[in-house]
Amino acid sequence: MTCAEKIRLYTDGIAERTGRRPGVSVTTFGCQQNEADSERLTGIAESLGYRRTDNEEEAYLIIYNTCAVREHAELKALSRTGQLKHLKERNPELIVCVCGCMVAQEHRLEDIKKRYPYVDILFGTASHGRLAEYLAEKIESGGRAFYPDSDYQIEEGLPVCRESSFKAWVSVMYGCDNFCTYCVVPYVRGRERSRRRECILEEIRGLVAGGVRDITLLGQNVNSYGKGLYDDYSFADLLEDICGIEGDYIIRFMTSHPKDATFRLIDVMAEHSRQDSRPRIARQFHLPLQSGSDRILRAMNRRYTRDRYLSLVNYMREKIPDIAVSTDIIVGFPGETEEDFSDTLEMLETVRFDAFFSFIYSPRKGTPAARMEQVPDDVKTERFARMLEVQNRISREKNDLYVGRTERVLVEGRSKTDPGMMTGRNEKNRLIHFRGDDSLTGNFVNVKIISADTYYVEGAFEKEGLDEQNEVQSH
Ligand code: SF4
Repeated sequence: MTCAEKIRLYTDGIAERTGRRPGVSVTTFGCQQNEADSERLTGIAESLGYRRTDNEEEAYLIIYNTCAVREHAELKALSRTGQLKHLKERNPELIVCVCGCMVAQEHRLEDIKKRYPYVDILFGTASHGRLAEYLAEKIESGGRAFYPDSDYQIEEGLPVCRESSFKAWVSVMYGCDNFCTYCVVPYVRGRERSRRRECILEEIRGLVAGGVRDITLLGQNVNSYGKGLYDDYSFADLLEDICGIEGDYIIRFMTSHPKDATFRLIDVMAEHSRQDSRPRIARQFHLPLQSGSDRILRAMNRRYTRDRYLSLVNYMREKIPDIAVSTDIIVGFPGETEEDFSDTLEMLETVRFDAFFSFIYSPRKGTPAARMEQVPDDVKTERFARMLEVQNRISREKNDLYVGRTERVLVEGRSKTDPGMMTGRNEKNRLIHFRGDDSLTGNFVNVKIISADTYYVEGAFEKEGLDEQNEVQSH
């Protein structure tokens, strides 16, 4: 009997005894790659006879898929793990599993083993497809099981339980070879490896045929897609092939690296985001800058200069004049002086990003930057506040330009902060709120923008603006 068959029998047994299939609750900490991984873990658990639930109280399998990029994310996951003790006492059949980037670090694996004796299974990022095996071993032995990552392979064909019926993540490559000095990703997700193009195209064809409208291609460094797999097939070629798939959908991608993003990639985007035909690629580019100082970029081992960065942005804006450009910035990297920080502020004013994600540097164990001379916490916090002030002003000015325009919006559902409003995003990923009803969820609609805020704009749904080939369906 295979491990999957054993777990199926086991879950059937619980279902017979309790009158309900046993629940599986999967919680994601961290990035979009982790969200995509969690959808796979949920899909695998469902294929083993578990029923997806958001209520940990009724779960027989709890999986925490953790992140290691910032200390804050690790502490949050550990604090939540601590709270599982009482659930385990109440239901001894509950299996607690902690996995993901945090667990792929040896010191954290040892820490969790010692401090949380009720965690049954620990594994990293490389072996989701072995979940049935891990569960079978746990159930048969009754003991705890720890699986540090050793072999980073690509696992195709695993079941996926997607959170949304109209938005989807599609991983195109995994891992990273760049070794930026602040980052743990190359240590916890292994070296770069790309999925075969035919697997990616087949997955996207299936998603589009199933009604998915917004697809984000994922990878730690999508611009190096194909390296080591193909001699003359790049990320730009992949995007072109994807755009050949018929249907009403939009493609986004993240994350790009400024040293690897090419002018050809921008040409392909320009060709397939034209407004005179239905655009296939979103007019949006997320390009992490991290710092505006060449000195700090060198210390980060980013391997580009601010001039190279600006030449990419200028080319994008020349080819796609209204493209939305967003970025990531790290404040307080070791050795950052006031002058370095001023260079970053100057880049914000020069580029005028549509959105940014900013982080206060926190040292990650085992990375070179953790051993460099650190910037005092109060200096980092003060710089962070100043930077936010600059970017908030720019974001607000950019949002003001939307007022009076009509935007095509993919409706995501009710606003979390105001259930009276519907919320969605335009092609440029701008958050848009408007009054409407649940039947619009999952559809493209036209919204006339009437007011702007720093982080979103508000508008009115234009009924006659509904796409004809896009009749409202409920999802
Ligand atoms: S490119 Fe740099 S920051 Fe991004 S995942 Fe790779 S090492 Fe980390």
